[in-house]
Formats: sequence, structure tokens, C-alpha cells
Amino acid sequence: MSPIWHGVFRRCRVCNGNFPLIGFYAASTTHTRVYKSWVCRLCRQTRKDKAKAENRIRVKAASVIRREGIRLSNPDRRGGPIIEAPGDLVSTYGWSVDRIERLLRHAFEGECIGCETPYAEMPNDLSNLTLDIRNPHESPWIETNVQPLCATCNKTKQQLDGPQWGEYLHYVRLWKEQRAQMEQDPWAAGVLFAVA
Ligand SMILES: [Zn+2]
Ligand SMILES: [Zn+2]
Repeated sequence: MSPIWHGVFRRCRVCNGNFPLIGFYAASTTHTRVYKSWVCRLCRQTRKDKAKAENRIRVKAASVIRREGIRLSNPDRRGGPIIEAPGDLVSTYGWSVDRIERLLRHAFEGECIGCETPYAEMPNDLSNLTLDIRNPHESPWIETNVQPLCATCNKTKQQLDGPQWGEYLHYVRLWKEQRAQMEQDPWAAGVLFAVA
């Protein structure tokens, strides 16, 4: 084989990039490689990852509805059940898989409304995304009493009552300001002599 590379190129139908043939999947026979794909390898992979991620959120939505239905109708639930039967979440309170999926997806692309951390920056991504019943003593209407929250905030919230949760969020905001100031100007923030 000649060491001079005569590149053969093909254009990817997804990203429109013009790439050497090696960037496309081929079916190889004994002597030749037949380049069958018109979508480049990395575009293919990206598409596959995306589809996988999308399906994962839907699967999560379905399992959250199932789990919460059981939990919220449980007679032994702390504070008592707030629905009669698991299926009520779907038939009465608006928790369709489509809607819960949209709620989760929208949250997942942004940040936790409690700690303002982007979900994309949290470890083990999807498992950090939970659904919270805002007021655990009231009916779980999807429009007014359900919100996505990160797992850490959800855990903290469960240990606090309504007013305390409000205070806690206020504390989180103040803490962020303090930390930002500390990084920018430790002297002004008064932390130079503070014990770490
Ligand atoms: Zn491509
Ligand atoms: Zn959070």
C-alpha cells in the first residue's frame, strides 16, 4: 500500500461534515470494507446516547408514579395517606406519564429550585432528580402541589416544616452570597483569620 494518503471523503447527513471514510461505519467482507452508513460514527453515537437519556427519563417518570402512588396511599404514612388508592395519582391528580416526564425533563435541563445546582453538575445524574409534594398534608395536584427537587434538598425538606424550609432556602441564598464574596475578596468577607 502506498504511504501517500489519498483520502476519500463522505458527507455526514446529520452534521453535514465532510470526513474521511474511516469516520463512517462499514461492513467488512474478506477483502473490502463497504461503507454503508451515511451518518458519521460520532453523530451516530450522540444520537444513541440522546435516545437512551430520553428513554431513561420516561422510565423514571413511570416508576416515580408507581412508587409515590403506593407511598401516598399507605395508611401507615407519616401524617396519614393523602390519596385513597395508588391509581388516583393518574385518574384524579393529573400525574400522567407524559406530564411527569415533561416535568422531570424540564427540571433536568435546568437547576434544582432549592439549592440552584444544575442537575448536569450533580453526580449520578438522574438519581438526584426527585419529585417533592410541596405540602405533604394536602392533595397532590400536579399543578399546585408537586415540584422537582434534588435528592439532597428533598431529604433536608423532609426534616423541616413549611416555615423552616422557607428559612432554610433563605439561608442557602445568603450562604451563596457569602461564598462568592469569600472567593472574590477573603479580606472583606472576614475569613482570613477564620478557622477552616
Ligand atoms: Zn456527523
Ligand atoms: Zn437542591
